[in-house]
Order: sequence, then C-alpha cells, then structure tokens
Amino acid sequence: MLTNEQITSIIAKVQSTCGNHTPISIVYSARKPKRIAEASDGGVITIFCYVWDVLTDEQQHNTIVHEACHILALKMFGWSAWGHTPDWKRLMALCGCPTKTRYTTPLSIDQAQKISPYVLQCKCGASIILGKIQYGRFQRGNLYRCGRCKATLEK
Ligand SMILES: [Zn+2]
Ligand SMILES: [Zn+2]
Repeated sequence: MLTNEQITSIIAKVQSTCGNHTPISIVYSARKPKRIAEASDGGVITIFCYVWDVLTDEQQHNTIVHEACHILALKMFGWSAWGHTPDWKRLMALCGCPTKTRYTTPLSIDQAQKISPYVLQCKCGASIILGKIQYGRFQRGNLYRCGRCKATLEK
C-alpha cells in the first residue's frame, strides 16, 4: 500500500518528466466498486478504495502514473489528447509505464476474488468482475465478452 508521501512523489516525478507542473490532487471514494481510478479534467485523480486496497505497490504506482498522464496530456495538448491517445501514450512511455492494455491495472484472479464472488476469468488472463444480477444471467446462458480481448467468456 503506497503512502500519501509516495503518491505525492510519484506525481511530482511524472510532472517533471513530462515538463508540465499542472497541480494534481488525489481524492478517495468508496463508490464504483469495479473501477480502480479515474482522472478528471479539473486535475483530480479519484481512487476507488474497494479495488485499490488489493493492488500491489507496482499496480498502484502504474495507476497513478496512468491517471496523472491523462491530466497532463489534456493540459499540454488539449481535448484531442484526452483518453488513451497517442499523446497520452507518449507521456506514458516517457515515464516508463506500460500502455499495452486499455485498462489501468489488470487484476489477477486472486485480487478480483477478494473484491467479489462474481468473477470470471478470460483465456487472455483478464479477470472480469460481474454484478450479482449479471453473474446470474451468465450462469443461465447470457453471453459476455472480455473487455480486454473481446473473446466470449466461457464457464
Ligand atoms: Zn486511462
Ligand atoms: Zn480476454
């Protein structure tokens, strides 16, 4: 679990690496149990505690860099750079952070099962957390696709 001081220093390092010192703040939220974090155009990174608490320090580090790069890409290049765009990827590369998946931090099956009993695992290795109702539908034959590789999930 990263301390607040470690998170602050990760953000400072991203700002100096990218050469842009737009203020970035962190808030914690107990909402959105399936999300890890999100960046706002106002320079705030919201961390969703439910998933955050099961991440490794490296996953937390990569998540902070990922979200901080979203905020800086917007400030440096405008709205065309918002999202997982080439400008954002360039900043991520500068910071030495992986951008392969569109997900901030893929969870292992063990991590996902700490969060929810309704977890599916795709052949690509991604863990997919369903809601209770979705999980019931899956058990009755509804098809769901993996968000990472788009394959149909199997029982
Ligand atoms: Zn993102
Ligand atoms: Zn997959």
